[in-house]
Amino acid sequence: MTRADSSAPDVGELTPPNRTLMGPGPSDVHPRVLKAMSTPLVGHLDPSFIEIMDEVQELLRYTFQTDNQWTIPVSGTGSASMEAAIGNVVEPGDTMLVPTNGYFGGRMASMARRAGGEVVEVDAPWGEPLEPAVVSDALAEHDPDVFGFVHAETSTGVLQPDVPALTAAAHDHDALVIADTVTSLGGVELRVDDWDIDVAYSGPQKCLSCPPGASPLTLSDAAMEKVLSREEEPRSWYLDLSLLEGYWGEERAYHHTAPVTNVYAIREALRLVAEEGIETRWDRHRHLAGALKAGMEGMGLEMNAPEEYWLPSLNAVGVPEDVDDGEVCGAVLEKYDLEIATGLGDLAGDIFRIGCMGYSARPENVTLTVAALGDALESLGGSVDPDGGVAACRQAL
Ligand SMILES: *Cc1c(COP(=O)(O)O)cnc(C)c1O
Repeated sequence: MTRADSSAPDVGELTPPNRTLMGPGPSDVHPRVLKAMSTPLVGHLDPSFIEIMDEVQELLRYTFQTDNQWTIPVSGTGSASMEAAIGNVVEPGDTMLVPTNGYFGGRMASMARRAGGEVVEVDAPWGEPLEPAVVSDALAEHDPDVFGFVHAETSTGVLQPDVPALTAAAHDHDALVIADTVTSLGGVELRVDDWDIDVAYSGPQKCLSCPPGASPLTLSDAAMEKVLSREEEPRSWYLDLSLLEGYWGEERAYHHTAPVTNVYAIREALRLVAEEGIETRWDRHRHLAGALKAGMEGMGLEMNAPEEYWLPSLNAVGVPEDVDDGEVCGAVLEKYDLEIATGLGDLAGDIFRIGCMGYSARPENVTLTVAALGDALESLGGSVDPDGGVAACRQAL
C-alpha cells in the first residue's frame, strides 16, 4: 500500500478563536493556570514532582473538605475519575442503585454494568432532585451494595439538596455512596466528610477552571478497604486503584506516566481555590450566578429549577416560544464569541444550559451573557425584554 498523497499536510499555526466560555464546561481558564502549564517538565518520579504530588493531594483534600488519605487526581477527564470510582468500588455481582433524573445517572449505570454490576434505579424526572424518602424505599427494596447520585446535574441544572439525608439512608442499608461532584467541586457547597460521602469524583474543567486532563477523586477508608479486598481485579488496568496506590501512595513507583503539565495546572487551579477560601468561592458562585439568574428573569425568561434546588454553576433557562435553541446558541457564538449550550436528553429543545463556573463566574462574563442572549433572542424573534434583563443583572451585581 502507498499513501495516495505523499506530500506533507500544510496545516497553519494554531489560532483558536478567543471565546468566553459560559457553557457546561470547559470554563475559562485562569491566566495563572495557563502560565503554570507553560513551565518546563520534570520527570514524573523527580523528587521535585513528588513534592508537587503531595501538595496537589493536600489542596484536593481542602477543596473536597475531607481528610481522606485516598485523594488523587486521576489521569484523564472527569469520566476517567468516574470510571475509576465505579469500576473499582463495584465488583461483579454487586448491585448499584443509580438515579434516572439526568444524563449522568445514565452514564453511572453504563459504567456499573461494564464493571459486572447489576443496576437498579431510583426514579425522579429530569429537572428534579431525588427525594430522600424515595431513595430510602429504593434502598429497602433493592438492598444495593453501592448507591450513586449526582450532586450537580449538568444536564438539568439541578443541585441535589439534602445530601446528608441520602447518605444516612444509604448507610442504614450498608451501601457505600458514590457522589458525582464534577460540577459542584469548587463551585457550590460540598463537604465530603461532614456529609458522609464515601467516594466523590470530579473534573478539573468545570468549577476549578482548569483544562481537562487530571480529575479529582477521593475515597474513604471504608471504600478503599472494599477496593483493596476485591476478589477479582477491576476490568481496567489503567484505572486500577490498587495499582495507582503504588504511585500516589507511600511507594511512588511507576505505574503510568503522570500527565505532568496537567498536574501543574490543577495545582495552580487549587492554589487559587485555597487563596480565595472555599466558602468565599461558594458564595461568589451564588452571587454571580444569582445576577445571571436575575438577568434571565428580568428579560422574561424562566429558570428551569426553583430556588430550592437551583444549581449556580449550571443554569438551566427555559427556551422561549418561537425561537430555535440551536440557532440562538449559534448566534451568540458568532456575534459575541460566547459559548452557551442547548439542552440534551429529556430536556433537549426546552432549555439553554449556561455555566457560571470558576474563573468564568465574573461580573464581566455574566453581564456579557445576559446582554448577548437578550440580543440574540430578540433578533431571532423571541419575545424578550433585553434591556430589562441587563438592568436586573446590573442591579443584582
Ligand atoms: C462533565 C461531567 C462529567 C464527565 O466529565 P468529562 O470531563 O466530560 O469526562 C460527569 N459528570 C458530570 C455531572 C459532568 O458535568
